[in-house]
Amino acid sequence: MTRYAEFYRQSIDQRDNFWATQARLIDWQTPPQQVCDYSNPPFANWFVGGTTNLCHNAVDRHLADRPDQAALVAISTETDTERSYSYRELHTEVQRMAASLLALGVKKGDRVQIYMPMVAEAAFAMLACARIGAVHSVVFGGFASGSLASRIDDAEPVVIVSADAGSRGGKAVAYKPLLDEAIRLASHKPKAVLLVDRGLVPLQLEAGRDHLWSELRAQHMDAEVACEWVASSHISYTLYTSGTTGKPKGVQRDTGGYTVALAASMKHIFQARPGQTFFTTSDIGWVVGHSYIIYGPLVAGMTTIMYEGLPTRPDAGIWWSIVEKYKVTHMFSAPTAVRVLKKQDPSWLKKYDISSLKALWLAGEPLDEPTAQWISDALQIPIIDNYWQTETGWPILTLANGIEQQTTRFGSPGKAMYGYNVKLIDEATGEELTEPNQKGVVAIEGPLPPGCMQTIWRDDERFVSTYWNTIPGRQIYSTFDWGIRDADGYYFILGRTDDVINVAGHRLGTREIEESISSHPNIAEVAVVGVADSVKGQVAMAFAVPRDATGLEHDDARRKLEGEVMKQVDGQLGAVARPSRVFFVTALPKTRSGKMLRRALQAVAEGRDPGDLSAMEDPSALQQVRTLVGA
Ligand code: AMP
Repeated sequence: MTRYAEFYRQSIDQRDNFWATQARLIDWQTPPQQVCDYSNPPFANWFVGGTTNLCHNAVDRHLADRPDQAALVAISTETDTERSYSYRELHTEVQRMAASLLALGVKKGDRVQIYMPMVAEAAFAMLACARIGAVHSVVFGGFASGSLASRIDDAEPVVIVSADAGSRGGKAVAYKPLLDEAIRLASHKPKAVLLVDRGLVPLQLEAGRDHLWSELRAQHMDAEVACEWVASSHISYTLYTSGTTGKPKGVQRDTGGYTVALAASMKHIFQARPGQTFFTTSDIGWVVGHSYIIYGPLVAGMTTIMYEGLPTRPDAGIWWSIVEKYKVTHMFSAPTAVRVLKKQDPSWLKKYDISSLKALWLAGEPLDEPTAQWISDALQIPIIDNYWQTETGWPILTLANGIEQQTTRFGSPGKAMYGYNVKLIDEATGEELTEPNQKGVVAIEGPLPPGCMQTIWRDDERFVSTYWNTIPGRQIYSTFDWGIRDADGYYFILGRTDDVINVAGHRLGTREIEESISSHPNIAEVAVVGVADSVKGQVAMAFAVPRDATGLEHDDARRKLEGEVMKQVDGQLGAVARPSRVFFVTALPKTRSGKMLRRALQAVAEGRDPGDLSAMEDPSALQQVRTLVGA
């Protein structure tokens, strides 16, 4: 048996011993008495009896050995700023933020929503919440009022931390008006809003509710706020993700299991050592940002780089100039970003000294072979794909090169990671597929390892019914992805089994977009599907039936309505969810019983054969689509 195969076996067969060893990678105030309580499946309770603190492990624990080492470097090519914070300085700033949140009435277990651009204060806010045992819930800054409002109502935050604006491509994007509108729309009202004024757009404060960070910080310059030791199972955060229904799910994570899982992943997967530099190009609004911009690198005593800006501005060499300047050792990005760079002049990749870089990890969406090959040739370092989900918090499939160097196979994210009892399951029978190269649903036998979601926030029942009861005859976690495994244990991911689409690594529920489009007064019905795109992986495409089609035979009128629909989505959900096109049709492809034939619609929109259409009610519906997309 290879070293990794042995390591993996132990993690499954001697689960408790295995994770007891990993638990020693972090500091505990009280060590756990029991490794895993799985007496109430599928709910797993990791490190029972242990008390710890995520902020302590990410910040305070490093003060003795590396107080003056940079902990966080916040670089913005949008505002042309670079701010570096040593562990000592980060400790100070986090305490100021923690004291400010306490002053605004936040208590242990209270939720704090964070709706922020990629600025250092966003990291302070997350760490401050962890410090005082508050539950943070970060909402991606690209989401608009409607999305934010539904998350406010679900999380019921006591305080919302936000900013005047973000910035994209050199243009300020005001956040505060979106936040004000979201609070107006939401039934739950936060007690206070804490605002970072970046001076990008004029900021209007609501008296009694809104507070400026600059003022609160000044009041708490010398604040000392001790870490609140919390039970391992104490909720560290919730993070919303899309599913098949319009209502986003609050993925809820614990503290102890998550801290251990991250510490272990930094060692075994990323081969990270204290003092090295980790640069993840994601956003704190996504799970990659939580795990590998903020917590993972800091727990490992590294320097982490937060980047606000595009990969191509001021030029396509910007990332590599950061690698050179900060001697980045580990880089983590998404395939879409690489595909964007691939369209630029390749000489940008040769302009800087990137010899510090050990490997590039990519995640969030399928990494196609040509893209992997291109970046591998250009950088001459290992390119490591990793497959995971918001729900799991750390990779399910990749290569654990910290245990044993393994060969990358382009097109495959790699092997099952330790702790994940990954199976391929026949969707119809629930049987496990054990032969190589059989296609099945990628599923995970419980308990999910430490770091994975505990439940859906305030909805245990939905957690069970959504994830654990979809495969006939067995209680097993479904990833909702199709996959195959080759004879050597390498997996290949073949797309989602549900209506979730992945646009530039951003996971979107088509149902949410449909609901937003349907609320336009002239839209009777709509179907949104994900269509293959050479840069973004997929884009959302909408096919809508107008209530009143008068005049829509004219290009101008169609374009006007399409623009209105797009604006509606921008305003409610945010530009990330905006469909690339809205086509108007007289009917949508459905079965005689009224079920939407999404896969057929998607196939036709991609110019593929839609397969068996015998159940279809009105064959002309697909013909219209074919004509419209020019397939
Ligand atoms: P999210 O929760 O937003 O990270 O989205 C998770 C989903 O993205 C997975 O269920 C997959 O459908 C897809 N995904 C993430 N990483 C990969 C990868 N490396 N290869 C293929 N698909 C991926």
